[in-house]
Amino acid sequence: MSWLTFWNTFCTPGDVVEVLLFFAFLFAAIIAVTIGRPILLQRRRELLMRQPLPPELERILMDKVAIYRHMQPSLQARLKQLMSVFLDEKRFEGCGGLEITDEMRVTIAAEACMLMLNGEPHFYPTLTSILVYPHPYAVDGGAGEDEEGEDEEIRAGESWLRGELVLSWDLVEREAGGRHAGRGVALHEFAHQLDQEDGSADGAPPLGLPSRYTSWARVLGAEFSGLKEAVEGGRDSLIDGYGATDPAEFFAVATETFFRSPIGMKRKHPALYEQLRGYYKVDPAEWISAGPTSEGAAGNDDRLVIRSLPRVG
Ligand SMILES: [Zn+2]
Repeated sequence: MSWLTFWNTFCTPGDVVEVLLFFAFLFAAIIAVTIGRPILLQRRRELLMRQPLPPELERILMDKVAIYRHMQPSLQARLKQLMSVFLDEKRFEGCGGLEITDEMRVTIAAEACMLMLNGEPHFYPTLTSILVYPHPYAVDGGAGEDEEGEDEEIRAGESWLRGELVLSWDLVEREAGGRHAGRGVALHEFAHQLDQEDGSADGAPPLGLPSRYTSWARVLGAEFSGLKEAVEGGRDSLIDGYGATDPAEFFAVATETFFRSPIGMKRKHPALYEQLRGYYKVDPAEWISAGPTSEGAAGNDDRLVIRSLPRVG
């Protein structure tokens, strides 16, 4: 029996109306969920951004995040707006016995939101949790060996495609405070998140216009090759040699240098600086050149740094 014969035999006109009503209702429900959820999310974010950051959290931001004190007041205000959303949406979990404090939440949120100060913020859509260890941590399966001779690797941070990002608090705190110029493990891991937004970690985050990919590939490809040659030749570089691992690590490490040693990068790697300035839509070299716009506990220097800490992740 064909489906048409079956239909004509067993279905009355009343049945047809009920079936059509069912599918119309189903279609309307799908449309309502598809359109309604992003609208509700956007509405919630707008409300959060209108609420000022509590004064105690703003004091932490001023004390802990050195570059914040150099930003223009309009950018400081924007950063605080973005942080309100980030702190509301992301879960922080202490690992290795660490208890999460406001200092940790504020410092990490500031580093994360620094990367989306201008343009349309996406708030790391696939990221739900930030796992924080007190120090760099060991994971199984790496190149080193533990006491029992098992393979293990010491990591400063990790970024996963879906769900989680891992950080070592002592490094985040020191680097955000300007006490380890040129480095920023939190900036590094959040840059990986941006890179992964299009589904692949290849050193090219979503850039918009096709023409931008051409110049991005040309400039970052040449700089990546230059860094590999420097590492192989045993020469120091402003950009951490860990960036020579692959293009994804190069983008993450270049992001650290862009925000932590912007004047040096602008002088030594002007084309790379311009690419990153175009992508992040901010000019940190200008912030540093202008001097601090707010008083804080410590200064942020801008000098060439020889790296010594473990770099995996
Ligand atoms: Zn990395």
